[in-house]
Parts: sequence; structure tokens; C-alpha cells
Amino acid sequence: MSLPVQYPTASLKPRREESLQGGHLWIFSGALQQPPHWIEPGGLVDVKAANGQFVARGYYNPQTDIAIRILTRDREEAIDEVFFRDRVRRALALRQAFDPEQTSAYRLIHSEGDGLPGLIVDHYAGILVVQVHTRGMERLRSLLIDALRDETGARGILLRNDSQSRRRESLEVEEPLAVSGDVPERIIVRENGVRFLVDPWQGQKTGFFIDQRDKRAALRQYARDKRVLNCFSYTGGFSVYAALTDPGTRVTSVDVSAPALEMARENFSLNGLDPDRHEFLIADVFDYLAQARRDGALFDVVILDPPAFARSQGARSQALKAYRRLNTLGMQVLQPGGILLTCSCSGVVHLDDLLGVLAQAAQHVQRPVQLLETCTHSLDHPINLAMPETGYLKAIFCRVG
Ligand code: SAH
Repeated sequence: MSLPVQYPTASLKPRREESLQGGHLWIFSGALQQPPHWIEPGGLVDVKAANGQFVARGYYNPQTDIAIRILTRDREEAIDEVFFRDRVRRALALRQAFDPEQTSAYRLIHSEGDGLPGLIVDHYAGILVVQVHTRGMERLRSLLIDALRDETGARGILLRNDSQSRRRESLEVEEPLAVSGDVPERIIVRENGVRFLVDPWQGQKTGFFIDQRDKRAALRQYARDKRVLNCFSYTGGFSVYAALTDPGTRVTSVDVSAPALEMARENFSLNGLDPDRHEFLIADVFDYLAQARRDGALFDVVILDPPAFARSQGARSQALKAYRRLNTLGMQVLQPGGILLTCSCSGVVHLDDLLGVLAQAAQHVQRPVQLLETCTHSLDHPINLAMPETGYLKAIFCRVG
């Protein structure tokens, strides 16, 4: 007979277990009866209700508002290699939906959305890029890497623990590190049959913005034989899809990052497109749009996919102002009847906020706006129903009259 699994215990205040029973995975420090000083930062913990009953098991960090993140509600389940193998297998099963001939870039593990708080794993044609965002996950790192290697058969695994957000958990910001196999400087991936170069070592985030896959595909129906302006283009994700729709389509890609635009040009060539028939501009989008408006430039399709303007509640109202300004400028360079794709990846800015921003921009430019499609992310970024905060991306296609 095996011994029951047990970890140090923390007790909740009365009734604080209810949200966990509904599937939420966070416990704020205020919900605990007392801070469990006896547990090391990042250590595993059993959470008990005020009546002493087992509720869940997770990891603890005394230095953050979210004191405990839950890993399992099964008291028989130890947090060991078997646990990680099981979670990786479950995540893989969901991604079987992708035809590898068509799509070889997808998120394999979307943190709380896949039941693994503090962990992001992106898959690029057999290479995994891992980001560890919490102290608790950091302590479990080697179990995790072993499970990923064994269950996925990945050719290489790269740890990209270079995000500044790690400081919030008092974690070091590290240099990228290959922890298994060989990780090339560049990977060629497919997305809906379109080819892209990914730089897993130095590219932004883990190298590519896979969360826009379905929005890029949706763009196709609006881009045929049109003048398309792709703002915040990065390596040209939307641009390549648009340009491939028709030889008559002309795409202008704008980004502040010169290396990103250099790779955007390469991505055009990789798909048999001549980059010289399109425009690539290194510029601040706000400056570019203001100038384009003064010049009277007009486009049929405008894409606005900025970086997160707000990373915390405190930054929200400033961010809303920036989204308002950006969307107003975007509408001002749109041909009557043109299509605007506007996005926000700020977690604290909700869909209603973005709709409000659009309404204000529409009022400012005094043009009618029809909402056509409203999107979040696709199946490889699952949203935990009990935690709306596991969804962050909002994208709206609309027609501006
Ligand atoms: N749409 C892209 C992802 C955009 S990520 C895709 O589908 O891959 C945001 C991009 O905005 C980054 O490439 C970053 O370099 C760029 N960026 C950030 N601030 C900017 C600014 N003020 N002007 C222009 N580009 C900016």
C-alpha cells in the first residue's frame, strides 16, 4: 500500500475554498488564515478549508499577491514526474487538432489555461520554447523539462527565461539556454500552410505571435487585391497572409524593430512573394499614422496589433487613451468602406473596453462602424472558464463607412 501523499499545509479562511472548487487556480494571501512561514518560497503546499478538509495542492510564494497557485485538486496526485507527464499528454491531445503538414507552430502549454500555472511552452516544428514565470514552477523545472522531452519527442528545448516579468516573482532574468537537444538559430514553421521563419533565441516573446493564427486566416477574405496597412507588423505574420491572397494586393508593414522587418522581408521571399513589390517601414506607428493622415494616404484594410499598452490595473486608463488615439488614427487612413482589424493583448483591457474605444474613435471621426467578427484566441490558448484572466487577446474586424 502506498503512503498518502502529503505536503506542508496552509489553511484558508472560512468559505474561501468555493472559487477553487469552481476551477479557479489562485489563492490570494488575504484568503489564508496565516502566512505559512514554514514553507519555502516556491514550495509545494496542501490547501485545507477552515474545517480542515483537503481542498487542493499547489505551490506557494510569500512575495506575491497570489500566494498559492493550484496544480491539482486530487489529493492522491503527487506533484512528480508522473503528474507532469500526464499534463503534457493532455495538452498534446488537444493540439492533435492541428494537421502538422499545415500548422507546425502552436502553443503547447498555456499556463493556467492548461492547468499548469506559471508555464508557457510554444512548439515550433519539433522545437519547444519554454518560459517559466513563477517561483513555484521554477522549482519544478527539471521534472517539467524531462516530461516535455519524453512525451513530445522534441528535437530541442530552449528555456527563454529572459522576460522582465520574472522579477515580480523575485526570479532572475536569465540568458536563453538550450536544455535539451539542439536548438537552431532559425526554425521554419508552417501556419495554415504559410511558411514563417522563427528566431527562438532572440525573437520577441518565444519567437512568434502564434496567438494570431486564426485572425491571420480570417484576414484573407478582406485582403484580395487591396491596399493593406499592417501596423506593428513584427515579422510580417498578417502581411504575408494578405500578400498571398492576390498578386494585386499591396502591403505596407510598419514596426519599430529593424530585425523584425528584415525577417518580414525574408518571410515574403520564403512564400514566393517579391518583397520589393511591398513596403517595409521602420517607424513608430503613431508617428507614421499621423504623417500618413497629413499626406492624405488611404488604405482599404488597416491592421492594428500593438504590444500590451497596460500590464497592470494601474496602467489601464492611460492604456485606454492610447488605444483610443491609435484607433482614431487607424480609421483616419481608411478608405470609406474599409476594413479595420483592431487588437488588444492587454489582459486588463476587456472586450467591452475595446468596443468602447472603437465607439469613441468612430464618434471622433464621425463615421459609422459595423462590427463583423469578434475573436479571442484559438484552441491552443485555452481559457479556463473559472478564470477569465487566462484569456487576454481581443480582436475585432469591422467596416468603417
Ligand atoms: N502583429 C504581429 C505581432 C505584433 S507584436 C504578428 O502577427 O506577428 C507588437 C509589435 O509592435 C512588435 O513587433 C514591436 O516591435 C512593435 N512595436 C511596439 N511599439 C511600437 C511602436 N510604437 N511603433 C511601431 N511598432 C511598435
